[in-house]
Amino acid sequence: MSSEFNLIARYFTRPAPQAVLGVGDDAALIAVAPGMELAVSTDMLVSGTHFFADTDPRQLGWKALAVNVSDMAAMGAQPRWATLALALPHADEIWLAAFASGFFACAKAYDIDLVGGDTTRGPLNLSITIFGEIPHGQALRRDGAQPGDDIWVSGTLGGAALALAALQQRTTLDTDDLLACRQLLESPQPRVELGLALRGIASSALDISDGLLGDLKHILERSNVGAELCFDAIPAHPALEPLLAEEWAQRCLLAGGDDYELCFTARREQYAAIKKLEEKLGLKLSRIGHITADAGIQLLDAAGQTIRLPGSGYDHFA
Ligand code: ADP
Ligand code: MG
Repeated sequence: MSSEFNLIARYFTRPAPQAVLGVGDDAALIAVAPGMELAVSTDMLVSGTHFFADTDPRQLGWKALAVNVSDMAAMGAQPRWATLALALPHADEIWLAAFASGFFACAKAYDIDLVGGDTTRGPLNLSITIFGEIPHGQALRRDGAQPGDDIWVSGTLGGAALALAALQQRTTLDTDDLLACRQLLESPQPRVELGLALRGIASSALDISDGLLGDLKHILERSNVGAELCFDAIPAHPALEPLLAEEWAQRCLLAGGDDYELCFTARREQYAAIKKLEEKLGLKLSRIGHITADAGIQLLDAAGQTIRLPGSGYDHFA
């Protein structure tokens, strides 16, 4: 791509005040503050697998970065720097301008500097690596849940999956609901503030990108525990709530992807602290169950009867 350098200069070179050296040299330079650990995470978005080739490039730019930011939130890290590796079938400047505007809108919203990357010709593919800071030893890991801990989720679940169902004409929504759910699907708002506030409170955490049950399973496996969940306590998106008698809607709630809320565990005695946090952040935090010593997930109805689990999280190789 002869204009590769022009493209980088035009679309991806911005001031990087949080870095020692940003885009333009053989490598970026970043200085991690003393006493801090670096949290590093990569997410790849492949055209046809994670998004459609004709996806609005501005939304794609936002979402590509946002899903990485969500991983920082889930670790309790403050996101600071990112790199972007981009394969493009051709240098479509209208596409690039829109993509960059979405990407940098998200970067600005979460105070992240783009410090480097790679630009090459190839099937449309985006790979972002994000770097964040966490005070030494304070990361919210997946392996800290203990029997008796409460299980919590932020926000409401199933809205993004409901939007997808509507866009694929598997259901219909009224205009307002569709708009609200599409916003969740296309421009997720990762819970960085919550992640930071949960340091010292949560015993484990992750972000719900592939669906509650599938993602919670990762905490259970890493922590070597099980879970008992109360179906009625799981917060559904308001547009999904009236549909919950139907099995596909239950699947949206329990196994719908793309929510980018946090699921976390905490000792019982943290209940008041978490409720205080809910008020401070203006973000609904729901206790949905507790950790058990026995492996597996038990889902209970209001009468305490076991509910059969619908298919769990999305797995690319299942
Ligand atoms: P090199 O040949 O040393 O890998 P490149 O020509 O690939 O250098 O990149 C030049 C500079 O531009 C580097 O600092 C690189 O990090 C940056 N860069 C390349 N592509 C991107 C991109 N899509 N976003 C941000 N920075 C980029
Ligand atoms: Mg390169």
